[in-house]
This record gives sequence, C-alpha cells and structure tokens, in this order.
Amino acid sequence: MALEKLEKKYFGTNGVRGVTGVDMTPVFALGIAESFGTMIGAGKTVGIGRDTRTSGPSLSAAVRAGLTAVGCNVIDFGVVPTPCLQYLVLYHKLAGGVMITASHNPPEYNGIKIIEADGTEMGDERTIELEQTMINKKYVVADWDKVGTASDNPESRKLYIDAIVNQFPKEIGKGITVCVDPGNGPAAATTPEIFRRLGCTVHTINSEFNGHFPGRLPEPTAEGLANLSALVQSTGAAFGVAHDGDADRAIFVDEKGTFMDGNITFALLASYFCEQKKGGIIVTPVSTSGIVEAVGKKSDCSTNYTVVGSIYVARTMRELISEDKPVVIGGEGNGGVIYPKHQFCRDGGMSAATMLGVVATKKKPLSELIDELPKFTMYQVKHKTSRAKEIVKHMKEFFKDCPIDDRDGIRITKGGAWALIRPSGTEPLVRVYTESQNSAEAKEMLDTIMNEITPFLE
Ligand code: MG
Repeated sequence: MALEKLEKKYFGTNGVRGVTGVDMTPVFALGIAESFGTMIGAGKTVGIGRDTRTSGPSLSAAVRAGLTAVGCNVIDFGVVPTPCLQYLVLYHKLAGGVMITASHNPPEYNGIKIIEADGTEMGDERTIELEQTMINKKYVVADWDKVGTASDNPESRKLYIDAIVNQFPKEIGKGITVCVDPGNGPAAATTPEIFRRLGCTVHTINSEFNGHFPGRLPEPTAEGLANLSALVQSTGAAFGVAHDGDADRAIFVDEKGTFMDGNITFALLASYFCEQKKGGIIVTPVSTSGIVEAVGKKSDCSTNYTVVGSIYVARTMRELISEDKPVVIGGEGNGGVIYPKHQFCRDGGMSAATMLGVVATKKKPLSELIDELPKFTMYQVKHKTSRAKEIVKHMKEFFKDCPIDDRDGIRITKGGAWALIRPSGTEPLVRVYTESQNSAEAKEMLDTIMNEITPFLE
C-alpha cells in the first residue's frame, strides 16, 4: 500500500497542536473537519468538544462548519474533558468525535484530537489518510440539500459523571475530604461533581473555566500545584488531585501535600483493581517504572509492555481482551490511566475517583500507602544525537546476552535492573532510562550505557 510509505505531517501521537493564530487557525481546523467528515461519510453524526482555551470557540465553530459542509451532523457538547467526549461518542453511538484541545501545552497553543467511533484516538494509518485528504483537497462538500445539521448538548456531560460514579460502591467517599485543582480547565465541571456524588466533602481551587489560566499553567507540575498542596494541608484532605488541560491525566498530592510521581500513582491505582481481579494483566509502555510490575505481582497480576504512547496501550488492551485475556488496567507513568471496565482511553476523572477508592478501601493515609510500596531508583537522561538508530543497534549487540524487548527502542533486563534506550520519534535525541531497587545497580547500568554511547553523541 502506498500509504504505508507516507509519514504524518501535522499530527503527533496525541493529535495536532500549534500556536493560536500562527499555525492553529480556523482555516486549518476547517480543513481537518472537512477531511475527517469526508472519511467517515455524509449523513453520519460526529461529537465536538473543547477545553477552555481562548481560541476554543472559534476553532470549534470552524470544525462545526467543516463537518456540516461535507454532510455530517454535529452534536456540540461544549466544554468537556477529552475522556468525556470519548465516552459520549461511545454512549451516543456516534461515528466519531473532534476534541479541540492542546492538552498540557501553554495557553497560547491549541490543537485537535480526532476520536474514532470506538472512543479511541485515531491511529497512525487513518491519521495519514486524513492528512492526505486535507493536503490533496480530496474532501467532498455536500450539495445544498445534503448539508449536515448541528445541535448543542452541554448537558450530556452528566452521563459521563454517572458512568464513573457507577463504577464505585455508593457513598464510598463518605467522611473523606478531597481537594480538586482542575487548572481552570474542563474538569471544573466534572471531577468535583464526581467526588460529591461519591459522598466526599470537596474543596476546589482554579475551578472556573478560564482560558487565560490565571492560577497555574495547564501542565500540573509540583510548582504549579503549590496552592493545591496548601489547600490539602489546611483542609485536612485525604489527597488533592489536579488535571492537565484536557483532564485525560490526573496528578496527585498526598495528605501532606507532597507531589506524587506518576509511576507511584499508577502503581497505587493499579493495586485497587488488581486486588479485585487476581491473576489479571496490566498493560503499560516499556518506559514505565518496575514499581507497577512489582505491585501487580502481589496480586499475581502480570505486566504486558507496549510501544510508548497511550493509544498503543489502549489498542493493546483491546486486542488482549478480544482474546479473552483478563486485562485489569492500562496506563503510563505520566498520570494517564485507562480502565477497561469504563472505556479505552486515559481518563483523569476516573483516576481521581479510583484514588478515592484506594484511600477508602485501605483505610490508611496516602503517604503511608506510598511508604509501603517497594522503592525503586530510576535515572532518566536524554542526549542530542542524529545517530540514535546506530546507538540502538550497537547496544543491542553489547547486551546480546541479556533479555531484550525491542518493540520500541530496546528494553534490557540485567540482574535486578532494567534499561530503556529509545530514540525520540520527533527530535534528534536518544533517551536512556535505568532502574533498579538497588540504586547502585541502576547507576552502574547508566554508567555502562553512557560509556558505550558517548562516541555517538553530539
Ligand atoms: Mg491531556
């Protein structure tokens, strides 16, 4: 197939992003919408959602124009988290969805994520087809009597809230206080409500929709969450949760206000479901900390590694489930977690509720639960090089006596340590991770690798 030789021009792993008014313009959004609508066909219905960025309304209007112009009908759900739109696409059996968001990027950015009918983000081959339709202007504008219709349905977000609340025992949050920092993003209308419905006392910060992001930037960093930490401490909350700009990820602080690493978060969230389904499977990229695998083992759960990227995790989960394999949970070390009983995409609201489930079930402070986890030391470095592929080849030979997983870069297991050597998909970089429960062993592995690859670096 000729398409296989083409590469993506605009889209990355999670949609296309650009600076508002520079490369992310209504004209660009219109082209994407006309092309996507043409691919799925006139007469089909597509959902639209957006985050709170200032350019959201204009880009959303352009997407609505493009889809209806090629004969698709549109339901506009308004300001919603990406996983809410994904849920609504499935719930309403829509042909697809278009989410206007730049996720965690700074305020001047915006972007578009395309959602397929199965609720997952569009994969590589279909994205290339979409781009080619746009570049070659192969979209087909409808005649006057075939133009699509458009309607608004902002109330539908309640269905998403219901779907999450229904995953947990009634009133599981009774007597528990939590703090939420939606970062002036779309989860302001969902995550606090999810907690209230589960019986919690809820305190919020940055909880108004505001595309100027006066409280903090859309990426939830430790510095950005200082106010959330203070709120947790002053209210005696069990934990605080913050979301990125489209709330597909959730980042936590414990009851002391201490920022939690995403790998530790994932391990704890996984434990909630692994303990309910012993012998299950965790799905995660090769870049994830071994802490997740170690926590899974306590419940006899195995870990299935994938290529780096949430859509590859989601699709692997689907494949395994179609083979009747007992997949319990999937996710990444960046706060993005996927719950197969709910839907096949990262869901920050569901992660928030699951952390409540962890605290309510274990009846211990979060910091104690973190202390009980096995301790791993991970080193992560990146270096500029245009010879990343040569590095991978060289290191594969160097570690030829060790077990190697080469699905995305190379993941080497040596003694109690593992290492990942992985070329960047978008920049002239190589990333090197090493990890072990023995910090000296992790450092030694890093030194060995750096010693070998230094001649290839710039
Ligand atoms: Mg995101």
